[in-house]
Amino acid sequence: MRTYECDVVVVGAGPGGSVCAQYAAEGGCDVIMIEKRQEIGSPLRCGEGISKAWLDEIGLTPDPRWISADMDGAIIVSPGGHRFKLDESMAGNEVGYVVERHLFDKELAARAARAGAKIMMKTSATSLIMKGGEIAGIKGISFGEDIEIRAKCVVAADGYESQVARWAGIETKLKPSDIDTCLQYRMTNIEIEPTYCEFILGSAAPGGYLWIFPKGRDTANVGLGIILSEIQKPGDVKRYLDEYIASDPRLSKGQVLEVMSGAVSVSPPIDKTVMNNLIVVGDAARVIDAMTGGGICHACRMGKYAGEVLSKCLSTGDFSKEALMEYDVRWRDQFEDKLYRNWMAKEKFRSVSDKVLDDIVLAISEANVENVNVYSLLKVIKDKYPELVAEFEDMI
Ligand SMILES: Cc1cc2nc3c(=O)[nH]c(=O)nc-3n(C[C@H](O)[C@H](O)[C@H](O)COP(=O)(O)OP(=O)(O)OC[C@H]3O[C@@H](n4cnc5c(N)ncnc54)[C@H](O)[C@@H]3O)c2cc1C
Repeated sequence: MRTYECDVVVVGAGPGGSVCAQYAAEGGCDVIMIEKRQEIGSPLRCGEGISKAWLDEIGLTPDPRWISADMDGAIIVSPGGHRFKLDESMAGNEVGYVVERHLFDKELAARAARAGAKIMMKTSATSLIMKGGEIAGIKGISFGEDIEIRAKCVVAADGYESQVARWAGIETKLKPSDIDTCLQYRMTNIEIEPTYCEFILGSAAPGGYLWIFPKGRDTANVGLGIILSEIQKPGDVKRYLDEYIASDPRLSKGQVLEVMSGAVSVSPPIDKTVMNNLIVVGDAARVIDAMTGGGICHACRMGKYAGEVLSKCLSTGDFSKEALMEYDVRWRDQFEDKLYRNWMAKEKFRSVSDKVLDDIVLAISEANVENVNVYSLLKVIKDKYPELVAEFEDMI
């Protein structure tokens, strides 16, 4: 069996893994990042929408190579068809890009490589190496060959289906009401506003929403997420998406270029993201915005924090839970409250009727909110429907 030695082994070359690998390598760690697939960023499992504000924090300069479309704003569509248009002056930093994930993810991995990380493709982690009861690396399969990568710390950046954290004994199970099942078509020959992302609310996508994220003049990612607990039979998700497309004259003549399905966790984050010699990052830690299903930004920011803390641990030689705890504290300080608030909001809104959603969208569009984000929208809702936000009113 081939054996490798390093300071840090990162499992998963998604955004979280790559940014972690980059920052850890820049901080002096000898890093190996493994990826089970044969191509980074592919196959696509994403709507590809991101906001802009956080790119600076990870030192990523927007680049036309991975930007598919630059947004001027967003449109929220109520179940009854009322369209509330938010332009950049109102949505500020919440407005963003629609990216090409296969190029965006590769760019993040290339940055890790430039910092000195070694990348091993078609290499799956299959279990943890345990030594004296402590994690000491991973066992895996690389191009069909058994391997071991011995490391001072393992980074579980293995996404929604994460097994690494589970192998380490961390509880990562999800309730059916905390999973969105998604289906997306890349559609062309459709009529869209090419610089506006659309979010369509209501019973067209029970417990979730439909999205239209432009990828050019007449092409877009058209998809939806439905709470798993709302699905009655196989084929429901496709039926909902097809029914919506048939009902919208702008889309009904469109043709599908690509089909993508996947699932996203819409739960609160896991309780512990560090233990001795282990860090959990991104979707593997269930750090995702339950209202939007967006997780790229959190995965990247967590990756940065993890990489920086790992560099510190290298200098002291201490990769214990106590030493790694700085990472857990840092990301929770930055966004845990917001994630919890949005999860509680999602829990409330998934049972709201189309009529109430219509009222809410109307109230929001009439409220003249200057800086629109989930927080300010919840404030408007609090005035009109205080009962909807009663359980988390102190977070608004
Ligand atoms: C349908 C859908 C639409 C979405 N739309 C958006 C959106 O528009 N905007 C947004 O911000 N977020 C969106 N998300 C969420 C977003 O894709 C994730 O939050 C983001 O990719 C998380 O990054 P990550 O690095 O944590 O995990 P991932 O990107 O999932 O990366 C994990 C990597 O680990 C690899 N891996 C897994 N197991 C192993 C193993 N045992 N050994 C080696 N490698 C392994 C996987 O192959 C994968 O490459 C969407 C998700 C879905 C499913």
